[in-house]
Amino acid sequence: MISLNKRQFLDQPVMDFVISSEKVAHVQTGNSAEHALLVLTKTGYSSIPVLDAKYRLHGLLSTKMITEAILGMERIEYERLASIKVDDVMSKEYGVLRTSDTLQRALDLVINHAFLCVVDSEGTFEGILTRRVILKQLKKYIYTRQEQNA
Ligand code: AMP
Repeated sequence: MISLNKRQFLDQPVMDFVISSEKVAHVQTGNSAEHALLVLTKTGYSSIPVLDAKYRLHGLLSTKMITEAILGMERIEYERLASIKVDDVMSKEYGVLRTSDTLQRALDLVINHAFLCVVDSEGTFEGILTRRVILKQLKKYIYTRQEQNA
């Protein structure tokens, strides 16, 4: 197996490891929280991107953000789900990579995010890079280097 040195490992383009946008579950701006909760529950993902009709990234949405928005004083007010828009509850705090970025930048950001969103120079969503995929690459790198040095 070809073993990369540290520089070669860090300089790999993030696009080599991205889950492309067509395979990423998402909701659209203007969708109701009810629809989003359905998507989140059915896919089982903890959070998903919020995109507009032109596939530009606007935020991230999780089940927790939705349940917090409908939490009343004494009960969860499910009847409000249909009237709340995802735009009102989504988070604008997410890790973003450019398509031209390398694993070095991804490694820095993925410490604080389970996945990173990848956008092109116009802000169009290209896909995600997950912590799982990065850890898999890191493990491969560590073990192939160990075998070469053994
Ligand atoms: P994983 O590393 O596969 O456990 O994914 C970590 C997180 O990344 C998931 O909980 C989701 O929030 C997000 N994610 C991974 N794959 C997808 C996908 N295909 N569509 C939407 N979100 C995803």
